[in-house]
Amino acid sequence: MDVAEKTRDLISRLQKLESTHSPSAFACSFGAEDMVLLDVIAKHVHRIEVFTLDTGRLPEETHALVDTVRERYSIPIRIYFPDTAAVEAWVEQNGPNGFYRSMAQRLQCCHIRKVQPLQKALAGKKSWVTGLRREQSASRQNLEIEAWDESNDLVKLNPLLEWAAEEVWAYLKTHDVPYNALHDRGYASIGCAPCTRAVAPGEDGRAGRWWWEQASQKECGLHPHQKVAV
Ligand code: SF4
Repeated sequence: MDVAEKTRDLISRLQKLESTHSPSAFACSFGAEDMVLLDVIAKHVHRIEVFTLDTGRLPEETHALVDTVRERYSIPIRIYFPDTAAVEAWVEQNGPNGFYRSMAQRLQCCHIRKVQPLQKALAGKKSWVTGLRREQSASRQNLEIEAWDESNDLVKLNPLLEWAAEEVWAYLKTHDVPYNALHDRGYASIGCAPCTRAVAPGEDGRAGRWWWEQASQKECGLHPHQKVAV
């Protein structure tokens, strides 16, 4: 399939999800893949709620893109923040950057700043949508486009699973979709500022996330039985 055919397939999958598994929500991190989904949902699939998790440690470029999207698209973007008391207690005990010290501390931070807000965002939903792609990492090879998400007790749709990076960028260029400025500085994946960095050409896109940890251990709990992180 070329990009136009894949786009038609994408719209069809999302519209089917909307009609069979509403209420539905799209978890948008404002990375390149998620901008494809946001553009399609804004234009063709109006009943899928768009939300993002503001961990409190997002890069300025992501906040700038949120503002651009709010001006450009006439759809609500729901923003979920972590529980203030939980963040305060963790930072008091571990320091603001305590996630660098051990994987256990890093996972605690991800749990408070990402997993708990995700659970809040998905409460009462029958399905959710992500921008995961198979070629992003070895740990995403066994994903399915649609599967039952046992952790969150709802259907999970990964409609870009078979899209290549070049196809994502072809869509963004063709439809003049805004994207995160960090991509122009070598960031393949967009996450929290202190835990994400640029990758070298040809390097695994996930290499820029939690680069101080072993690749096989990279997970944050958003996709627990898939052993990967958003
Ligand atoms: S990615 Fe880093 S800053 Fe963000 S929630 Fe996880 S450990 Fe905390």
